[in-house]
Parts: sequence; C-alpha cells; structure tokens
Amino acid sequence: MSKYNLIINGEKVAGENADFEVINPADESVYELCPSASDKQLDLAVEGANEAFKSWSALSSKQREEFLNKVADKIEENSEELAKIIVQEQGKPLFLANVEVGAGSAWVRYTSSLELGVKTIEDSDERQVQIHRKPLGVIASITPWNWPFMIAIWHIIPALKTGNTMICKPSSNTPLSTLKLVELMNEVLPKGVINILSGGSSLGAKMSSHEGIRKVVFTGSTQTGKYIMKDAANNLKRLTLELGGNDAGIILPNCENLDEYTAKIFQGAFLNMGQTCAALKRLYVHEDQYDEVCEKLVNLANNEKVGNGLEEGVTFGPVQNQEQLNLVIDLVEDARAKGAKVLCGGHRLDQKGYFYPPTIVSDIDNSLRLVQEEQFGPVLPVIKYSTVEEALAMANDCEVGLGGSVWSHDKQKASEIALKLECGTAWVNNHAEVLPHIPFGGCKLSGIGTEFGEEGLQEFTQIQIMNLAK
Ligand code: NAD
Repeated sequence: MSKYNLIINGEKVAGENADFEVINPADESVYELCPSASDKQLDLAVEGANEAFKSWSALSSKQREEFLNKVADKIEENSEELAKIIVQEQGKPLFLANVEVGAGSAWVRYTSSLELGVKTIEDSDERQVQIHRKPLGVIASITPWNWPFMIAIWHIIPALKTGNTMICKPSSNTPLSTLKLVELMNEVLPKGVINILSGGSSLGAKMSSHEGIRKVVFTGSTQTGKYIMKDAANNLKRLTLELGGNDAGIILPNCENLDEYTAKIFQGAFLNMGQTCAALKRLYVHEDQYDEVCEKLVNLANNEKVGNGLEEGVTFGPVQNQEQLNLVIDLVEDARAKGAKVLCGGHRLDQKGYFYPPTIVSDIDNSLRLVQEEQFGPVLPVIKYSTVEEALAMANDCEVGLGGSVWSHDKQKASEIALKLECGTAWVNNHAEVLPHIPFGGCKLSGIGTEFGEEGLQEFTQIQIMNLAK
C-alpha cells in the first residue's frame, strides 16, 4: 500500500481506486506506489473546497500572503527531501532538482506579495466607477511530468493568493513531489483550501467537466488542452492553458560571440534533458557559420555526464518515461533515414534506465518530423539558411508559438527580427528564461492565457464593476 496519501478537506486519506506504480526513470524500478482517487473522492474534494472558499475568500489579501509565506518556510525546511523525490520520480540531476525547489519557494514569496488592488476608472460629478477583482471559487490544477513541483506552484499560489481554493491533480508519472508539497501546505493552511487527488487522464477529464469547479489551470500537451476545453464547456469554466511549444532560435549572419551564444543555446535547448516547454527545439544557422556552430554544439554535448541524477558529477539524466523516449527515438530515426546527419548521441544507452545522450542533428530538411513536431527530449536539429527572410519564414511556419529567440551581437537588428517571431516570448541572446515577475504564455496552439506577474494573477479573478451614481 502507498505511503503517500490524498488530501481531501484537510484529511489524509488512501485512494479508493487501486494504487499505481511510479517508475524511477534512471533504473526502471518501481520507486513508490501512488494512491488513486475515485469519483466519489473528487466530489468530496469539491465539496470541501467550496466550503473552505467561504472563509478563505473573506480573508484580506495581506492575511493570505502571511499564510502563503508559511508555505515557503515549509518548502525551505523540507527542501532536501523534496529534491530527492523529484530526482527519483522525474529523473533530473540533483542540482537541477535543487533549483526547482529553491525557485519554487522564491516563486511562492514573490507571487504572494503581489496586490491587484482596486482600480478607479472614473470619479466625476456624475459617478464613481471602480474595478474590483473577485476570486472565482474552486479551481482545478492539472500538471505535467517535466517540472512537476515548480509547475504545481505556478498554478497553486496565484489561485490561493487571489482567494480561490483548489484541487490539484499531478501527472501520474510524477505525482509524489506534489503530494508532499500539498501535505506540507496543509500543515499551515486552513482545511479544504488546497486538496490533492492523484490519478490518470480520466480523473483529469472528470475534474474538467465537474459542475462544482469554476476554472481549470492546465499545463501539458496541446491535444490534452483541446480535450479539457471541450470538457470545460458545460459550465463555461475559465481556462488557462499552457500547452506545447516548438521554439525556434535564429543565429543572425556574421554573428560575433559564438562561443558565448552557443553555450547559452545549448543550455536553452537541453535544459531538463530538453523536456522543457519553452526549450529551444530547432536552431536556424546561416550557411557561412553553420559548420562552426555545429562543431561547438557537439563539443558542449560531449562535455555532459549522463547518468542517475543522484550520482555525484552527473549533469544529464534520463528521459522521464518510456513513451517519451520512444518518440525521441522515432523522430531521430526518421531524420536519419531521410539523410540527416547525427553528429553526436543518437542512440539509447545500452543499460537500464531511459538514457539518451544529448544529440545534435545537422543537414536536416526543415520539413522533417524532427523539426516540425515537438520532440520534447534531448535532441537539437540544426537547419541551414541563406537569408534571414527564409529563416523567419521557417521559424513561423508552425502551428504552435510559445517562445523563440534571435542571436546576434547586433542587438538592435536582433530585437527587430525577434518581434517578427510568432510566439508569446521573444528572447534576444537568451532562451527559456522564466521569472516570477515576467508574464509568460503562448500564442497559436501553445495555449490561452498568461501566467506570472500581475497579468498572471488577474487570470484567477473575475472583474466586478462598482458604479456609484453621485
Ligand atoms: P499531457 O497532456 O499528456 O498530460 C498533462 C496532464 O494532463 C497529466 O496530469 C495528465 O494526467 C492529464 N490529462 C491527460 N489527459 C487528460 C484529459 N483528457 N483531461 C484532463 N486531463 C488529462 O502532457 P505531459 O506529457 O505530461 O507533458 C508534456 C507536454 O506538456 C508537452 O507538450 C509540453 O510542451 C507541455 N508543457 C507546456 C508548458 C507550458 O508552460 N506551455 C510547460 C510544461 C509542459
């Protein structure tokens, strides 16, 4: 039986459905069993969260900030245990799991300090008109397996800060760090404010259509986002959908500082073994500098130490799950069969665990699946171009648009080109940087809505106009 619990209305309870296995991707062993929630338990959680909403939403914003700062204290006190859980369920190296936990608590403190306040839009002889921001009610959070702990925090804290209550459902691949987080939160928050149910896609679908839930905040694939949107239509739930990306990076012609930029590009492409929504997933390089850039990237790839994230000195962990690894293998083999050159990596390691070393693919046609589909793994296809217009057209010929980047010592020129990218964040000489005060979200099929900063907080509220006749 699982040593983890669901938390429903402040109570730790076992799942009513059969426990499921959480696999350690570094050795394919069963790391832990995880409880699985029944439909009845979902109803109980919604009931508890609706009851808790009455008093939680009545607190002042300052009082909620004080509560949430205690959550940050709890995370910091338990950071070592949390990071080790993340490594064993997700696969990333320990230093990166420490970053995930550390950034998580910093995110809690910053986001809970934000205030939306009341905005006066008219104060005349005729009337005074104000915009107030009200919480929505019970919100469902559904999260993916790449940054499980951090993304849960991105969902939970703005929701609670603005007076909503919540039910979380982590990915069934990586549920344990979120179960632990919500357990810690329940040590300092009133009962029912934050509930957690673990389970698979059918539980997510039931949450999306539940009449007692007012909003779904979802991070995951575009396909699942479409299902959620349909399921949420019955009671017109509000939605924040942070979906897939296939970010392009363009190195402008005659680029100086190639050593510095290729190091940052490598980091932006292979962060978390490439399993980052806004990782750089296709790189466009001018023909005159193409070979030089490829060589520098291969050298960087060869410096990585691949292995179990708990082992000393390891910088590069496994892919998180078998299905994702199969997709990566399939896309690389398709490219290889169609004439692309695999410059390094390109094979699963012959050992237990889902290890696939950092892989650079050159001489690849833009139309191949490895470029067109989100590979979400440790591979970077490098595509040659002759003119900047051609590079821009290839970068924008894509149905998703999360992030993108342009690289050059000529910052003015690079900024002009960056603004022509069809994406939610256009970086110049950087990629995949997200910070708690900078709004983040995708365009096209990368999603709906914004996270972080004041704009992100607003998404968890609805406006009420107060119109006073004078
Ligand atoms: P996924 O869509 O398969 O699963 C995400 C979550 O949705 C899981 O908790 C899963 O159980 C749940 N789910 C599955 N089917 C559901 C349904 N029909 N209804 C409701 N919930 C359902 O995604 P994943 O494979 O876990 O994560 C990888 C994807 O997430 C990639 O496409 C990546 O780009 C994207 N992602 C996006 C962002 C962003 O901010 N835009 C961040 C991280 C990951």
